Amino acid sequence: MRDWLRGEPTLIVRGHGATLIDAHGREYLDANSSIWTNLHGHRHPQINAAIRRQLGKISHSSALGLANEPASLLAEKLVRAANPPRLPRQPALAKVFFSDDGSTAMEVALKLAYEFARRSGRSSRPRFLSLAGAYHGDTVGAVSLGHIALFHRAYGGLLFKSEKVMSPYCYRCPFNRAKPERADARDYRRCNWECVGKVEQKFARAAKTKTPITALVVEPLMQGAAGMIPQPRSWLRRVAEITRGHGAQIIADEVMTGFGRTSVDNASPDGLFACHHEGVQPDFLALAKGLTGGYLPMAATLTTQAVFDAFLGDYSEFKTFFHGHSFTGNQLGAAAALANMQILTTPASICARRALEKTLRQELESLWTLENVGDIRQVGLIAGIELVKNWRTRAPFELRERVGIRVCDAMARRGVLTRPIGNVIVLMPPYCTTTRQIKQMVDALREAVCEVLENK
Ligand SMILES: *Cc1c(COP(=O)(O)O)cnc(C)c1O
Repeated sequence: MRDWLRGEPTLIVRGHGATLIDAHGREYLDANSSIWTNLHGHRHPQINAAIRRQLGKISHSSALGLANEPASLLAEKLVRAANPPRLPRQPALAKVFFSDDGSTAMEVALKLAYEFARRSGRSSRPRFLSLAGAYHGDTVGAVSLGHIALFHRAYGGLLFKSEKVMSPYCYRCPFNRAKPERADARDYRRCNWECVGKVEQKFARAAKTKTPITALVVEPLMQGAAGMIPQPRSWLRRVAEITRGHGAQIIADEVMTGFGRTSVDNASPDGLFACHHEGVQPDFLALAKGLTGGYLPMAATLTTQAVFDAFLGDYSEFKTFFHGHSFTGNQLGAAAALANMQILTTPASICARRALEKTLRQELESLWTLENVGDIRQVGLIAGIELVKNWRTRAPFELRERVGIRVCDAMARRGVLTRPIGNVIVLMPPYCTTTRQIKQMVDALREAVCEVLENK
């Protein structure tokens, strides 16, 4: 906070496409899509027009006891997108609960899963399993599901206990047999799936107690705030099978990964959600950040008919889901989200995303030559570059050295804005980013690393 007060903040006043403009007229590339929210760029004509059209009708009316047009249309569209035809025999995601942001979308999933487990007789004290390094938001329930000590430690006294299991952080896997000092130090993919074994162990142990694990909470394909930790192929499918095998539910937190962020699936190019890439249909799907194209705060939690039905009853049974927010189903947000969904499924957008993913991959390759680049992790249009003291030893920098922050400051001086996660630099460009702009982002990163770390 003191550092923030000392400096003069960059004051953003305008934007267009992948560009942000500050009060001095300086231009920057929005290299993390305004903290992972923006999809198609700033001031997109179609989204702007949709919001304007909605402004001409109404901005907000309560969703308590009332429906509204754009939110209902959006719910239908989300249900369609969340049930691609090639996921047979999975329970459909049939119902949508709107809220305000990623944290509330997760609170909703948590409370629904908790009550569902109790009402279905599965457990009187439902327990949740989530991954090491997990981040599911900053409200108290979401924090309880998270496992980032730096963010969460201070509030320990406020939290309920959730179970933690090893996440497949291959680069720093304790079971990794590749010797770092060897030339193949970057080949860390030989393994026996110990991380999946750990999940099985957790479920098996809990199954013998009075409190089985009732739900697995997971960021599919890539954990975001943990430091952009990708899951190796088939990890999610295997873990989902174990979860189902123990009769537990799956809560997929796609707040970051949703809406095409994790790449275009060749088998179903308009597939928008990460868990479907692994053929997994969760019982709960939490969406936020990109839902409105990153224009307005709005979130959704999708779930199954079975969960919905557990909250039906006569008035006097008081079985309703006692949860709601003032701005639930906000019309402006819903109008923006409808426009966003429309753009996402156009061939032009699919094509652009595919090309962009490839360009990003090609450009990032050049960073491997840097002494301080330990790992480059990319899933679709999300990339994390882990900086280390030396790639051979993988020795991490101490957090207090502020290496990530200093590198991002040096990138900002080169007109590229992003934020680090500890020693991991995040590149998550808007889908409208051009090849030239991607090059500019990666060049700025390379030069910044050299400036801060190599020519001390
Ligand atoms: C950002 C994020 C959240 C929290 O969303 P907010 O809108 O910031 O509350 C939850 N889960 C994941 C995976 C996220 O990336």
